[in-house]
Amino acid sequence: MSKRAVILGAAESGVGAAILARKQGFDVFVSDFGTIKEKYKNELTERGFEFEEGFHTEEKILNADVVVKSPGIPDKAPLIVKLKEKGIPVISEIEFAGRYTSAKKVCITGSNGKTTTTLLTYHMFQKAGLHVGLAGNVGKSMAWQVAENDFDYYVIELSSFQLDGMYEFRADIAILLNITPDHLDRYEYKMRNYIDSKFRITQNQTAEDIFIYCTDDPVLNHEMTKRKLAARCVPFGLGVPPVEGAGIIDNKLIINWEQNIFTMSILDIALQGNHNTYNSMAAGISGMAVNIRNEKIRESMADFKGVEHRLERFLKVHGIEFINDSKATNINSTWYALESMTQPTVWVVGGIDKGNDYSELYDLVKTKVKAIVCLGKDNSKILEAFKNLGIDMVETQSMEDAVRSAYYLAKNGDTVLLSPACASFDLFENYEDRGRQFKHEVRQL
Ligand code: ADP
Repeated sequence: MSKRAVILGAAESGVGAAILARKQGFDVFVSDFGTIKEKYKNELTERGFEFEEGFHTEEKILNADVVVKSPGIPDKAPLIVKLKEKGIPVISEIEFAGRYTSAKKVCITGSNGKTTTTLLTYHMFQKAGLHVGLAGNVGKSMAWQVAENDFDYYVIELSSFQLDGMYEFRADIAILLNITPDHLDRYEYKMRNYIDSKFRITQNQTAEDIFIYCTDDPVLNHEMTKRKLAARCVPFGLGVPPVEGAGIIDNKLIINWEQNIFTMSILDIALQGNHNTYNSMAAGISGMAVNIRNEKIRESMADFKGVEHRLERFLKVHGIEFINDSKATNINSTWYALESMTQPTVWVVGGIDKGNDYSELYDLVKTKVKAIVCLGKDNSKILEAFKNLGIDMVETQSMEDAVRSAYYLAKNGDTVLLSPACASFDLFENYEDRGRQFKHEVRQL
């Protein structure tokens, strides 16, 4: 008798999991508690899948042999609790996909920089002519690709939520960029739980596998002194290059890998700023580990276009450069954005704050910022936090006002940076909407 796979959540990853499960001979049932997007409903209907939306029929779910759950559904949801009580394995789509492919998997996690590093690595692998798929939080469902394409490599962005649903999955190359407090609400407000979740990226790795990590990150560094990892550990940081790994000497990015030494001036790298240097190092090491030639690595680091809403330099108006960093939704990413500013900066900040401690930004704000434009429904915490720094501050509650105020405060040669350090839901649909509205208003100036 066929085994039964139940897929919870019918978006990109759920539909992909359904397609792969059927290919692997499972009886498949798809259940989504919300409404399924038209596109995915059509896909399920055309392919003749049994599915439901708007509710979960427990009798059809609690008899599963395996459940593939969308990362959006919390472990505490009553249905998930019941499944676990019955001992039914509940796994993520990536875990499921990983069981049915022998492709090499490059997996990227961290609190910040995942998407940028994932897309850069993917770009590098493609440029080198490797047959590579892009999966995880960005790109298409990995399960879908495993079912319908036969890639040799996957570059996979993994959030901690995805990692939480992974058990047997093994990363051939794992990258852990940094660990700073984020999403602690999902981890009982315990940093320990969040750290352990991130380190799941190393589980099941063997001596043949590679673990690439940032030595400049204090949390990560401390963890490394305590853990005994089976993988070959390759560090990167902004200091002197290690015997194996990446570092900087005289403004040159250097990667030492086996007999090979890669060098490139950091001025020639498309992604600017220290945080992006880390991202380029991590991508570069993984490129070397799969034997991509230095010249190709150099080319891809030089011509990578960057990612929308991440320190995106999109327009100059009367000599004022406007930068869209709407994706910066926590203090750490904004810290790096401010640090990479080279001109006097008018900083647009605000939104919904996940418990920010703004004092971490004081030193940078004093040296880099000439004026602050608060943009949020409630700006009181930010006004209070920065009031004693002697910097001009303006309060706004719409993007139009924020952009106009910033334009008014800036002069030729200055930069206007939207790097909110907060989530966007008070005034916008999401960070993409916020970034697009910013660009739209700037173009109206
Ligand atoms: P993620 O996918 O982890 O959210 P992104 O690549 O989308 O990461 O970048 C999110 C934000 O973090 C952007 O504002 C970006 O400029 C900033 N950022 C990118 N790389 C790093 C890094 N290595 N360390 C800290 N911040 C970073």
